[in-house]
Order: sequence, then structure tokens, then C-alpha cells
Amino acid sequence: MSQGDGTKLVGAGRRKEWTQGIVSPPVWRASTILYDNVAELRAAAGKDSHHRLFYGRRGTPTQWSLAEALTELEPGAEATFLYPSGVAAVSAALLSVLSPGDELLLADSVYDPTRSFATGFLARFGITTRFYDPMIGGGIADLIGECTRAIFMESPGSLTFEVQDVPAIVAAAKARGVTTLIDNTWATPLLFPVIELGVDLSILACTKYIVGHSDVMLGSVTATPSHWARLRDTSFALGQTASPDDAWLGSRGLRTMAVRLKHHGAAALEIARWLEVRPEVARVLHPALPSCPGHDLFLRDFKGPSGLFSFVLNGGTEAARAALIDGLELFGIGYSWGGFESLAIPVDPGRIRSATRWEAEGPIVRLQIGLEDPADLIADLAAGLDRFRAAS
Ligand SMILES: *Cc1c(COP(=O)(O)O)cnc(C)c1O
Repeated sequence: MSQGDGTKLVGAGRRKEWTQGIVSPPVWRASTILYDNVAELRAAAGKDSHHRLFYGRRGTPTQWSLAEALTELEPGAEATFLYPSGVAAVSAALLSVLSPGDELLLADSVYDPTRSFATGFLARFGITTRFYDPMIGGGIADLIGECTRAIFMESPGSLTFEVQDVPAIVAAAKARGVTTLIDNTWATPLLFPVIELGVDLSILACTKYIVGHSDVMLGSVTATPSHWARLRDTSFALGQTASPDDAWLGSRGLRTMAVRLKHHGAAALEIARWLEVRPEVARVLHPALPSCPGHDLFLRDFKGPSGLFSFVLNGGTEAARAALIDGLELFGIGYSWGGFESLAIPVDPGRIRSATRWEAEGPIVRLQIGLEDPADLIADLAAGLDRFRAAS
């Protein structure tokens, strides 16, 4: 019988040999591991000695437990590598696939540091990037050339939340032997298990919903059997490792993620619907609302909403937007998201587009909806919209 998400998260990664029966997989800290003799020392060193203590950089049962738990959430996946941040996960995943002379197709709506990594770092090593319209769907086939090695997706897109046609893009990529990667941070595998849709590498900024408490930086990449060895070897070569303490907090957060996501998603939807009919708001960009590009794809492919979205103000100045945000009492002003506290930031996607033009009726605000009661957040936002109107 296939299990529900809550049940899966309670048991995930808790092998008895790693936990020794302790309910919450404990923190094993290590650099040096001691062996009884030279033969044992040599045996532990092989790259395939996955899940054998070798040296702290290769992890201990604390990291293995979280990595295995994340693998279990992606049916069809081989294994998961952990990183010290989401950006480290993005860069290792790309470096595991690309070589000098290759071309990368990158969605125009990706997280800005992913864009910078491609146009800055990868360009220095002779890897070119072509940006594509996130709504391109199967039309991506026309962009795949001789040198195209990888297609990177992020669905929904950062800041603007366009939902991509992942199955259509994967089909076009597979027909030409091109690798697909996705930044799946918004949905997590609970709302969007992408490996079973045919994606080769699934990337998470675990800093967000996996950790869930705004106190740890962590990233992961989950790979299919055909892409695991390259990912592992590249990550070893880069010296990537996540600390046992951070992995432990990641595991601890993961246990409650299904419950948290349900709240984040339902509260965000309630607030998004409330904003949608306010006269100060031109558009709400949440994939679960019809006004969001790709809403039909969201209904087709995703199991539910999560808690991060943007709204476009109806006209108004930057100063009026700042007046809205500055006076909020329950929303913190700060980057990142996925924690228990609600956050609000101004975003300006127009500045970072190249394949598409971003046009909007006014300034944009991005909200992360936390675990507060939605009625309190709505009251806070209502006062904010009053300040916006008064300042416009
Ligand atoms: C935050 C974020 C990242 C980067 O994660 P860090 O842990 O902050 O490095 C990557 N992708 C998306 C979509 C994000 O929101």
C-alpha cells in the first residue's frame, strides 16, 4: 500500500543501523575515522563505499539519513547529495553535467544567483547559456542545437511564478539526449515529484521548506541512476559536504514538513484570494490562481499549493510600496523563505530578464506566508494597502 506524505516523512531515512534505535537520528560528528588495520583503511576508500565511514567529508549516518529520506520522496531516484546551501546544490548539479563548449538552456524566470552562476562562472569555462521563455513548453525543441547539453527549469519561477510544462520539456530533451535539471524548491517532492516525470536532477534549497525554521543553510540534489555517478564524483571533487549539525536540523524539519506545507499552502491561498479582489491589487501571481501563467499546468501536475507568491500593485510608486511593507507588523522584511514567520519583500523582476519582457501594472511585493493565523495576516495586509493608497 502506498503511504501518505505524513507517514512517509515519519519513517524516512531512519535505518536502525544509523539511529541505533534513537528516534531522531542523532548527530555523528567526524573528521578522522579510525581503522583496525591497513586493509580496512584501504577498503573504505573506494568511491562506491557509499554509506561506509571513510572520512568526515564523505559524511556520517547523520547526513546519510537525510539524503536517503530525500531520495525516498522521489520515486525512481538513485540517491541524493547534500550541500552547504541551495546555491551550492545548483552549481554542483550544473558542473556535473556541463563541459567546455556545451550550451545550457536556462529559464528566464530562474532564481537570480542561478542566472549569475551561468552567465558569470560557467561563461569563464567556455559554457554558453541561452535563456528561454519559461512558458515555451514543447517549443523548446526548436532551441535545442548541436551543443545543447542541458535544460534547466524552475517551476514555478522565482519572483513571477510562471508554471512550466515540465513533461513537454522533458520529452523534447529526451528525444535529443539532453539532460534536464529542475530547481524544485517551491513545491518540494511532496507537491511535485519530478524524477518520476523524467527529470534527471532534482534540486532543493533545503534552507526553505525542508529546514522550515529559518536557522540553517542546506541544499540537495537528487539524481536518477544514470546521473548519480557524475553528480557524486563532481561533488566529491569540489569538496562539497554538509555539516552533521545542519543535516540533523534538516532531518528534524523534514518530519513536520507535510503538516507545515499544508498550512503554508492553505493560508497562502486564502490570502491570495483576498488580495485578488482588492482594488489596490492588479494581479496575484500564485500558481493556484487562474491569473498566474501556467495555472492549467499547475492543476495538471502539482498535488497542492505552497506558501510563496507575489502580487502586482495597481500603479503606485516605489515609495508607496515601501510604505506598505515598512509598516507591516507580522511580516518580517528579509530574504529567503519557508520558515515559520511570514515575510514581505519588494521584487523587481524586469531588471533581470533577457529572453522575455516583464511588464506589470505597478510595483510587486513577494510574500512568504508563515504559520501565523491567516486572519491576522490579512488584517496586517489590509492596513498595508491603506498605507499604499495614502502614499500613492
Ligand atoms: C533560496 C533559493 C535558492 C538558494 O538556496 P540557498 O540555500 O539560499 O543558497 C535556490 N533556488 C530557489 C528557488 C530559492 O528560492
